Amino acid sequence: MATDPVCGMFVEEKPDSIQHIVDGRKYYFCSTQCLNEFTEPERELRKLKKHVAISIALTIPIVILTLPHMFPSQLEGLIPLLPMETSNYVMLVLATPIQFWIGWRFYKGMWDGIKARASNMDTLIALGTTAAYVYSAAVTIAPGYFPFASVYFETAAIIITLILLGRLLSMEHLQLMSLQSLARASLWTSQGEAKLSALQSTRADFLQSELLKWVKIPCYPR
Ligand SMILES: [Zn+2]
Repeated sequence: MATDPVCGMFVEEKPDSIQHIVDGRKYYFCSTQCLNEFTEPERELRKLKKHVAISIALTIPIVILTLPHMFPSQLEGLIPLLPMETSNYVMLVLATPIQFWIGWRFYKGMWDGIKARASNMDTLIALGTTAAYVYSAAVTIAPGYFPFASVYFETAAIIITLILLGRLLSMEHLQLMSLQSLARASLWTSQGEAKLSALQSTRADFLQSELLKWVKIPCYPR
């Protein structure tokens, strides 16, 4: 079993597993998303930041629309209470891009897992949020067929937003840790460049450009 260098999941070393070779060393990945984060970290970080911002911007109004129905007496007069049917349709419109555009990465990850005859974290997220979204969409469009007209758009939206936010923080943290260790290496030795070039090329290019900001700060002993 190999370890995915991005998310830490165990991956079977099969010929059809997602893999990438750097300087003769083979790396295995649980999904194409992890492969992309490994080979193109700068592009993936930019994309993730954009998706998190959009996801937060769409999730906030969904939560605001949900709260008065959950706490009608406590929030009376503070947040306008839209009729249930209207607020459900507005939430359906807001939740759809979160589920199928921002959350598309989870479906891709689930498909990678199915192809590898394994499940991964994306499988759990895709199934859980899809169940909440599809049930809520059905209740919105045909409320008469359900005994309880509750919708769970906010559940799916909050799960996707928080998981992406967690991934963003962990990506930034990992890169900060890499930069700190590289900054130490380049200041303690005169062979920082050699150490950098030993890294995977695209990742090294990104870290090297970021490192220039760090090495100017004399915070590590020589
Ligand atoms: Zn992974």
